[in-house]
Amino acid sequence: MLVLEARDRVGGRTLNEPIDDEHIVEVGGQWIGPTQHRVLDLVAELGLDLHATHQHGDTLVEFRGRSKRYRGRIPALPPHVLADVAQAQLRLDRMARKVPPAAPWTAPRAAEWDSQTLDTWLRRHVRTQGGRDVCALVCQAVFAAEPADLSLLHFLFYLRSGGGIDQLTSTTGGAQHWRVVGGTQRIAEEMARRLGAAVELSNPVRRIETTDLDVTVVADRRTVRARAVIVAIPPTLTARISYDPPLPGHRDQVAQRFVQGSVIKCMAVYPEPFWRRDGLNGQATSDVGPVKLCYDNSPPDAAKGVLLGFLEANHARRLGQLSPAERRAEVLGCFARHFGPAAAEPLRYLEKDWSQEEWTRGCYGGYLPPGGWTAYRDAVRAPIGRIHWAGAESATVWNGYMDGALTSGERAATEVLAVLDAGSPRLIPG
Ligand SMILES: Cc1cc2nc3c(=O)[nH]c(=O)nc-3n(C[C@H](O)[C@H](O)[C@H](O)COP(=O)(O)OP(=O)(O)OC[C@H]3O[C@@H](n4cnc5c(N)ncnc54)[C@H](O)[C@@H]3O)c2cc1C
Repeated sequence: MLVLEARDRVGGRTLNEPIDDEHIVEVGGQWIGPTQHRVLDLVAELGLDLHATHQHGDTLVEFRGRSKRYRGRIPALPPHVLADVAQAQLRLDRMARKVPPAAPWTAPRAAEWDSQTLDTWLRRHVRTQGGRDVCALVCQAVFAAEPADLSLLHFLFYLRSGGGIDQLTSTTGGAQHWRVVGGTQRIAEEMARRLGAAVELSNPVRRIETTDLDVTVVADRRTVRARAVIVAIPPTLTARISYDPPLPGHRDQVAQRFVQGSVIKCMAVYPEPFWRRDGLNGQATSDVGPVKLCYDNSPPDAAKGVLLGFLEANHARRLGQLSPAERRAEVLGCFARHFGPAAAEPLRYLEKDWSQEEWTRGCYGGYLPPGGWTAYRDAVRAPIGRIHWAGAESATVWNGYMDGALTSGERAATEVLAVLDAGSPRLIPG
């Protein structure tokens, strides 16, 4: 077994960045939730520790120009907006339960749901503009995409895959519950350490040639012959490798349709988490942005204070075009609006625009626009001869998350082992 990695590091969409000699922050994926069993098991197996996301104190919500504090899970929004959002959540969660996560195209109303965007549904079923804005914020936060970007069926599939809107959006008890001490990149680093020479860095795969008997993988620094290959990269990047024979049109077209989200993860580092003294937990949501979501991302010992802000979807697309200084000013302006003037004067500011990354091209993950699921079904993970597909976008449970990346890898490895055990060569369709 050999792992060919394009970057000069392991971890992919997880990446630690030091903020001083002892502490790091994650500029990629960072949180783990209590129902993400596979990644929790792996963290334990690797001997890594978890710490809870800082949650103690009041959360802020900025809505229609006014900022309010609240405790608990229900934001301090006008009652008619809350009622509108609650009924939308109830309906969407109920619809999601009808979507089989391993085969969304078989949902009873799949054709109807896959022929519209989430935005179309929100316009029809959410009465107030405020309610639609809050629902849009949920979409931006979860997908780094606008409601008009994605298929309603994809949205529902993702809810089902992750266990519903509360699971996806909550800190305590939800997908943002824990962080890994020392950062999530340690998961990949520890696995790579155990694999040793089987992991080759700085070795991008450019071409995959298959015959009935074997597969030849052409990377920058070597060419490898094997009995099977697992391509574990975002679907859109699978189409940037060349194949001989070329991929069937169906497989290439699903790769053309899988869109990577748009997110810039921004952090400001302070001498201490000063907002905690004001009884704030560092979490804030805003209907204007451009930072619409903030978290306290300080290290567990709070030796430094770190505010985390996400620029997502259209805000990421717009601010990604600005100069770093202009972007920094916009982000720090949001932090200062929520947490006071001290937030405008960090010791350090750091950010990562994942659309700029050659070997990722957008995050958090990929999503399908209308028509994708019903036309292409399981094409994103169905093996093509000796080529097998993995990666978070091919997962059925916790699709788009680290947990889904792991289960997709195990599923692909099981496929390969079955083929190797059978010993008989598989034919390439067409
Ligand atoms: C800002 C951000 C926040 C996130 N937040 C969370 C979170 O809180 N919780 C969570 O669970 N998930 C989160 N995610 C998503 C999570 O990080 C990903 O779902 C997960 O890491 C995907 O793993 P993967 O192995 O499928 O893909 P990747 O991590 O993308 O790994 C693919 C690997 O393949 C390499 N590669 C690409 N092309 C080639 C090639 N041609 N040849 C060789 N190598 C290649 C890449 O360099 C990369 O190392 C976040 C992601 C980002 C960016």
